[in-house]
Amino acid sequence: MELRIQGISKTYPGGVQALNGISLTLGKGMFGLLGPNGAGKSTLMRTIATLQDPDEGSIHFNGIDVLREKRELRKRLGYLPQEFGFYPNLNAELILDHFATLKGIVKAGERKETVRSLLQQTNLYEVRGKRVGGFSGGMKQRLGIAVALLGNPELIIVDEPTAGLDPIERNRFLNLLSEIGENVVVILSTHIVADVRELCPQMAIIAAGRLVFTGSPQEAIDAIQGKIWKTVVAKTELARFQSDFDIISTRLVAGRPVIHVFSEQQPGEQFSPVESELEDVYFHQIHQGSEAA
Ligand code: ADP
Ligand code: MG
Repeated sequence: MELRIQGISKTYPGGVQALNGISLTLGKGMFGLLGPNGAGKSTLMRTIATLQDPDEGSIHFNGIDVLREKRELRKRLGYLPQEFGFYPNLNAELILDHFATLKGIVKAGERKETVRSLLQQTNLYEVRGKRVGGFSGGMKQRLGIAVALLGNPELIIVDEPTAGLDPIERNRFLNLLSEIGENVVVILSTHIVADVRELCPQMAIIAAGRLVFTGSPQEAIDAIQGKIWKTVVAKTELARFQSDFDIISTRLVAGRPVIHVFSEQQPGEQFSPVESELEDVYFHQIHQGSEAA
């Protein structure tokens, strides 16, 4: 199992360069694609899913030339877009049955069995007869993943599936993904650092259309270990610190700003070292990425 993305670039007609020479190789398991809004994640996901063409570059999946053999890729693909909708008046079972027919599962008995098993896997079996217009965000996402799983895909792409879910639904959704993820290639795009930290052995960070990191979350953390410092500042001092130091994040703790600063050496007496976390890597990388762009 290998997805190889080489030199993908895309500029939209309005002039926005959404992707700038993205190259990545992914194997089996969960891969986290992390980046802020506007980084180019959905553009890359849609390109891999054969829904739009890049200006440059190539994509190969297990010997399939994705940009040329779109139908071959689609047979093996399960894609959950960032935005999607179902007919609100249909129930979950009918919707899945409909998409199963479209996927080519034409035998009624086989289809019924497939639909039942996916409803159970996504924990929607009890509500299979309810209209999806009344579903919560988490239930809709689970139905979306059930649709994406039809036909046993080898490549699964889920674009920001946890945005807007409450913590319990998010947890349930991530658990579901991790069960699926072991024997296929799964790409999880997200702007939520915790999604990647909890789930993905391999990851990449993109910012302003460029790849700024690829590796494991632990490698990312190790690379900045010893270079993150923190201090509490007064709100009135914040502007001065911003101009004097490479601030990667500001968080209020009990109403007072706690800043994290990136520095090879201790930046000043009042700073203490921080055990670095994936959040620090992320904020540091996207900060640098936006300065380079
Ligand atoms: P992300 O999913 O990481 O938020 P997107 O791929 O949606 O990023 O967008 C990347 C950039 O491309 C943004 O600046 C966005 O406004 C722009 N963009 C996305 N889709 C289009 C489009 N169809 N036409 C023009 N610009 C677009
Ligand atoms: Mg997006």
